[in-house]
Amino acid sequence: MAPNARLDHRNPLVLDTHELGRRPGALQRLTRTVDAPQDLGIKEVVGVPEGAPVELDLRLESVMEGVLVTGTARATAEGECVRCLEPLELELEADFQEMFSYPDADDRGRVIAEPGDDAEDDEDRLFVEDGLIDLEPVLRDAVVLALPMQPVCQEDCPGLCSECGARLADDPDHHHDAVDIRWAALQGLADTMKDGEKDEMGGAEPGVDEKQEK
Ligand SMILES: [Zn+2]
Ligand SMILES: [Zn+2]
Repeated sequence: MAPNARLDHRNPLVLDTHELGRRPGALQRLTRTVDAPQDLGIKEVVGVPEGAPVELDLRLESVMEGVLVTGTARATAEGECVRCLEPLELELEADFQEMFSYPDADDRGRVIAEPGDDAEDDEDRLFVEDGLIDLEPVLRDAVVLALPMQPVCQEDCPGLCSECGARLADDPDHHHDAVDIRWAALQGLADTMKDGEKDEMGGAEPGVDEKQEK
């Protein structure tokens, strides 16, 4: 067989199935901690930082047409709350199960690609290559599925104040009374008029405009 150009057995996300063998029913359990690959997660939302530890619990099972991999990945993801933009961390546990098919029929296996199979199925199919399995795409899919699309720092995060941008979770009583704002603006205007004959009248106008937007 030609030397495998794609999979590197030194990559910790590449699993070697030689020890497992091809006898259907053979089982192998593996536990390993790997460094998170680049961009593991939902881009620019939440993800496992590159190089952070990812704990893998794996079960490899030899079946007639290939190797069935069942596993769990655990890691800590980082991101920011979509409501208040505070950084957040969340413990991630992603389960996955994936079939890696032998690329061809041989004296032991069966022809796994039925003539009726469409090309679309083939594209999604993962293969055992020279006895090696690349777990990385499986891990990526599982992690993305396990992560929230809209992570929040806490279930009921109240987000940011629409008036001033303050983080409301830090200040539950925070509010702006619309009447008070208007009153304050009037007060400000009065003050300006009172002590500001040197000031141009125009100085008070931006405040007036702002409150009219409300
Ligand atoms: Zn938040
Ligand atoms: Zn505010």
